[in-house]
Amino acid sequence: MHVPKSSLKVLIVGGGGREHALAWRCRVEGHEVHAAPGSDGIAEDATCHAVGVGDLAGLVALADALRPDLVIVGPEQPLVDGLADRLRAAGHAVFGPSAAAAELEGSKAVAKAFMARHAIPTAGHVTVTGLGEALAAVRSFASPPVIKASGLAAGKGVVVPETFAEAELAVRSCLEGHVFGDAGATVVLEERLHGEEASLFVLTDGERWSLLPPAQDHKRLRDGDQGPNTGGMGAYCPAPVCDAAVLRRAEQEIVGPTLAGLRAEGRPFVGVLFVGLMIAPDGAPKVIEYNCRFGDPEAQPVLFGLQTPIVADLLAAARGELTPRRYAAAPAASVVVAAGGYPGETRPGAAVRGLEAAGGLADVKVFHAGTRRGAHGWETRGGRVLGVCARGVDLRAAIERAYAALAGIEVEGGQYRRDIGVRALTRRAE
Ligand code: AMP
Repeated sequence: MHVPKSSLKVLIVGGGGREHALAWRCRVEGHEVHAAPGSDGIAEDATCHAVGVGDLAGLVALADALRPDLVIVGPEQPLVDGLADRLRAAGHAVFGPSAAAAELEGSKAVAKAFMARHAIPTAGHVTVTGLGEALAAVRSFASPPVIKASGLAAGKGVVVPETFAEAELAVRSCLEGHVFGDAGATVVLEERLHGEEASLFVLTDGERWSLLPPAQDHKRLRDGDQGPNTGGMGAYCPAPVCDAAVLRRAEQEIVGPTLAGLRAEGRPFVGVLFVGLMIAPDGAPKVIEYNCRFGDPEAQPVLFGLQTPIVADLLAAARGELTPRRYAAAPAASVVVAAGGYPGETRPGAAVRGLEAAGGLADVKVFHAGTRRGAHGWETRGGRVLGVCARGVDLRAAIERAYAALAGIEVEGGQYRRDIGVRALTRRAE
């Protein structure tokens, strides 16, 4: 492969749709891309190495062998477990926070206490560990509180109950039924917020930051925001709910104080701080959650739509030398196709057809989240199978293009939403 002089050698840790989007982005910007473990789909954009995200020692050894200019860590678990610290200790430039900074995602109880210490706007809350205490706390709220397992629960540890009885049931299943294991041993009860959600990605070296175009994802399984919560069924960007005034407030009231607070506590955040926002009808943003990495699927439209190179900035952030900038981006949307049965158990091995034709379409990219090459071609490997991503002159064009591409793809028994981005389109028509 011809590698231009300014090209970097990049190692991406992870193997889902987010990491495919990162690998694709690095490759189109002219870099040499490696992924661990990657996937058969990611192998179209990177050289994959069979080291899993849970094998921290193996990942450090791989980095030592490859000597990349930059390591990008995709998923939260290895960050919370200290992968970035171990890589840094071995002398590698890492885009991803230390375990101490990643705790903002690893423990919702820690995140809430942090926000209280630094006066960062968020929902009122109570943190509990005992069942009696929890049941009493449920009734202390004026309306049924949101129930959250404090630890990492793959996006599934949150219940938004309609009644107090449902809230009590959720508390019992965490603290008595142990449905989230240790992650649910501490529970955060939170005032329910109303408004529109958005995902803000803050690229930072710990001190300076740049915002990426704001995105919105679709957490519920079915159209009209019905059905169970999922890891995300689609996303688009930019999200019009995050207009310039909201972004300004979010930077002043949330991003600045969060990064300053982490610095003051001796745990500066290097990487992408993903702030899940609830934006009230009057435009006031509050933090619903912090994540310590790119969102999936939001990373797909964000990285596919970007018109400004970004990979050199990830390296600059890793080195503590970020130059803040504004990113130009085309509107983009990604529709997730999930296997039958998702978000419950899914059966791998269902046929996936039509990817070659979709791969030839202009302004379309299919990101692989849970596929593999079987004896008879592509097949499913996981719950979320693909993200069909497209960009356009406007959001409507991007969304229509994504669905047109999807029409040529068949995932046996698969399911997807037909209304990705509808909220933004209706808002525009208002
Ligand atoms: P989290 O994992 O904390 O982002 O929660 C998952 C989802 O639950 C969010 O995307 C929201 O849709 C919902 N949620 C979480 N906290 C609240 C809250 N305080 N008020 C209303 N909805 C919430």
